[in-house]
Amino acid sequence: MSQATAIDTGNTEKWQAQDGAHHLHPFTNPNDLLQKPPRIIESARGVYLTDSDGNQLLDMMAGLWCVNMGYGQQDLVEAAHKQIQQLPYYNAFFKTSTPPAAELSALLAEVTPAHLDHAFFTSSGSEANDTVLRLVWRYWEVMGKPEKRVVISRKNAYHGSTIASSSLGGMEEMHKQGGIIPDIVHVEQPNWFAKRCELGKDLDREEFGRQAAQSIADKIEELGVDKVAAFIAEPIQGAGGVIVPPESYWPEVKKICEHYGILLVADEVSCGFGRTGEWFGTYYYDLKPDLMPIAKGLSSGYLPIGGVMVADRIMDALINQGGEFNHGYTYSGHPVCAAVAIANIKLMQRDNIVQTVRDSTAPYLQKRLRELGEHPLVGEVRGVGMFGALELVRDKANYIRFDKDQGVGTICRDFCFENNLVMRAVGDAMIISPPLIVQPDEIDIFIERAWQCLDLTQKAIA
Ligand SMILES: *Cc1c(COP(=O)(O)O)cnc(C)c1O
Repeated sequence: MSQATAIDTGNTEKWQAQDGAHHLHPFTNPNDLLQKPPRIIESARGVYLTDSDGNQLLDMMAGLWCVNMGYGQQDLVEAAHKQIQQLPYYNAFFKTSTPPAAELSALLAEVTPAHLDHAFFTSSGSEANDTVLRLVWRYWEVMGKPEKRVVISRKNAYHGSTIASSSLGGMEEMHKQGGIIPDIVHVEQPNWFAKRCELGKDLDREEFGRQAAQSIADKIEELGVDKVAAFIAEPIQGAGGVIVPPESYWPEVKKICEHYGILLVADEVSCGFGRTGEWFGTYYYDLKPDLMPIAKGLSSGYLPIGGVMVADRIMDALINQGGEFNHGYTYSGHPVCAAVAIANIKLMQRDNIVQTVRDSTAPYLQKRLRELGEHPLVGEVRGVGMFGALELVRDKANYIRFDKDQGVGTICRDFCFENNLVMRAVGDAMIISPPLIVQPDEIDIFIERAWQCLDLTQKAIA
């Protein structure tokens, strides 16, 4: 990796003033930013961000679950540079394509499961899930069953922030402000920790997993299978708090989808591209999804690109029975974004990163993460691959959480941020999703800083 560019530290106040006056931030209370202006991130290398005052932050979130190959990868920079000179834009609407769009679709067919042979391109995960909904409905229409419309999702799922994708998601706070479109229903999430807190006692993990899966079958029976089109889920819920389902859950869900003949959609936007220690969460849980939305790690976040991998049986139905698929985005298959995604996947293959994660760095991360479970504040540690979560609780033994209003997760997150560690809070769950290239010595630094910040949090709330 080349040298970091020199930092000009004189501009922080200028940027903060501009930002405060003109930038409306996503998922942020604007009033909070007036009280405390944002930190300006100016450059990055590897797993470290540098702010406009020259501080180095250890980024254990890989940006927003996306910078899987870390910052400063020159292959990706050069791929963008080369492509933007040769052909900065052309579309795929006019019976045309571009070399990067064609090559990326072939490469994706190679790295995803064998029955997923076609890619529809989008610019984000949210758009990918809008496309999922269009494809699900289109499929049942061409199959002569247009009354199959309902998509079953899960409470606390995250599928994006457009109206369709947030409706597919199960975030109550988003539904309160954005509403929810028809024909989407939500069932229980396989969140063993939350369930034990709700009950205030222990609970058989595998039995609970089967029950959570059964809630899908119950919903299908309630609505009538002739009305139900699909079930959508993240293999491991990311933004909902890194919720790793019990082992019993996915085998049961697979059986239910097969039994009722509904489509299975595996949202791989955060699980995909190595995060679980496999190329996709679909391999980790041995799933056979009909549709597989992807984004984030597809380009390691260097440029915005997403897509939906489409199973052969759906493609065949569209080819044999359909007319035009009346759906697409100006930037579907954008050549520069596609060129960067190709460079990213090739880099992953060349460096054997998924294998390194699975066999070496992820086991080390998971082992050290569990040491944090000895901290008095931590009620549960969970994680798979390069996903991890620490649940902060008031009373470990009795599964008693803090009051929501106390904002303990946010307090801890703020301590982390002040101490140059990026860890995210989802409620009182502290979340990590580091770049896949994170090294053992960097994991050690993370554990040390995390423990310090847990201590600071404990003192602050005492
Ligand atoms: C981030 C995310 C999305 C939304 O992707 P955007 O690129 O932010 O639109 C969808 N699904 C999952 C599982 C995600 O983690």
